[in-house]
Amino acid sequence: MKPPWFERPFTSLLRREYAAAVRFDAGSPGELAPAAPRRPCQLYVHVPFCESLCPFCSFHRVAYREQKARAYFGALRREILMYHAGGFQFSDVYVGGGTPTVAPAELAATLRLIRSLWPIRTVSVETNPNHLTEEVFDALLSVGVSRLSVGVQSFDDELLKEMGRYEPYGSGAAIASRLAAAKGRFATLNVDMIFNFARQTPASLEHDLETLLALEVDQLSFYPLMTAASTRRRMQKSLGQSDPGRRYEYYERILGALQSRYEPTSAWCFSRRRVAGAAPPIDEYIAHQDDYVGVGSGSFSYIDGRMYSTTFSLNRYRELLEAGRVPITASKALTLKQRMRYDFLVRLFGLSLPYSEVEAKFGARFWWMMAPEITAMRLIGATRHGRQAIRLTPLGMYCWVLMMAEFFTAVNEIRDEMRLHIRDESRPGQGMWAERVSGGVGPR
Ligand code: SF4
Repeated sequence: MKPPWFERPFTSLLRREYAAAVRFDAGSPGELAPAAPRRPCQLYVHVPFCESLCPFCSFHRVAYREQKARAYFGALRREILMYHAGGFQFSDVYVGGGTPTVAPAELAATLRLIRSLWPIRTVSVETNPNHLTEEVFDALLSVGVSRLSVGVQSFDDELLKEMGRYEPYGSGAAIASRLAAAKGRFATLNVDMIFNFARQTPASLEHDLETLLALEVDQLSFYPLMTAASTRRRMQKSLGQSDPGRRYEYYERILGALQSRYEPTSAWCFSRRRVAGAAPPIDEYIAHQDDYVGVGSGSFSYIDGRMYSTTFSLNRYRELLEAGRVPITASKALTLKQRMRYDFLVRLFGLSLPYSEVEAKFGARFWWMMAPEITAMRLIGATRHGRQAIRLTPLGMYCWVLMMAEFFTAVNEIRDEMRLHIRDESRPGQGMWAERVSGGVGPR
């Protein structure tokens, strides 16, 4: 199955556009504190620790050390209190990483604090298969975690070995049995998968899909393999060079396999079809929320058309908070056109863009300022214009997978740039809280 004719020029264009759009301006910490938006928004909490560092991963993560993690959670709670004092209102919480469940008691204490400060509706937490244990379940359920998202990536033992995940997280069969035991504990159990590894064959992908269909978890997220410049060489060494020309075929296979029992809730997230009257699944992303605030080292926020980045240095993060300063070290105001494009990207990633929503936000100018993008997407057959909203077609879902993959790749490149000034804080002997970080962490 050939990819659409426009895929190559489309992805190169996106790469250039997003690289420019997500470039931050450095600023002075403490002076970049955002003002609270009028409406409640989503709180993203970043926990950067992992027990084992996967070669393909471009997230902000460091090796887990118990003492460091405990001190980090203390700083995190200080930052959360700062937002409370600043008048911010949060309705939903998403805890990502890293591996947020590396220190379950600390995580529970942090979520308990958040729940004591705001009336929170949903709490979503990411984890790894080795943390699907009674101890972790109890800690998470005691603070009302409603969605647990498990990073599985593949059930293929050979791929898991290449990814460096077989040893720490177990074989595909062991992961499947842990997932089966976790079913029904949380309102939504999500499994994160990756497709288009270099040595992933159609048979291996089919095996993943069959395993998932047999497990019948509430939600599945299938991401295309994404990387940043810094991890590319390491990734190619362990995982080989993946072929973007196969991405479309694999995505089609995924859609085909899941369609009878799952419905898409975003371009790469699928939730089990519900019986009438059942509660809707909790979704993974921010596709329906305007603003979000990120707390924790290396987190991003988007508030009232401005992006903010918190320092990637764990040392500096703690120091700034101890000095009573907001640990944001870079920000960027999006132009009106960039804000419109961001909404177009994020809303349609959630499959539909209601006319009333963008008109309430931007007025009628949205339609003429976004006319080139809207027309192009309609002409290639990516969107349908209904009475109340623009919706994605199946081809459009694939286009949005490409768009979001390029967007996250641009974000990963920015993460790399921001980490350039930071010495490795995770090596033994490099006391995370003892050493100082030289220079700023903002992009040059
Ligand atoms: S993929 Fe997950 S477990 Fe692996 S290093 Fe990245 S954040 Fe950690």
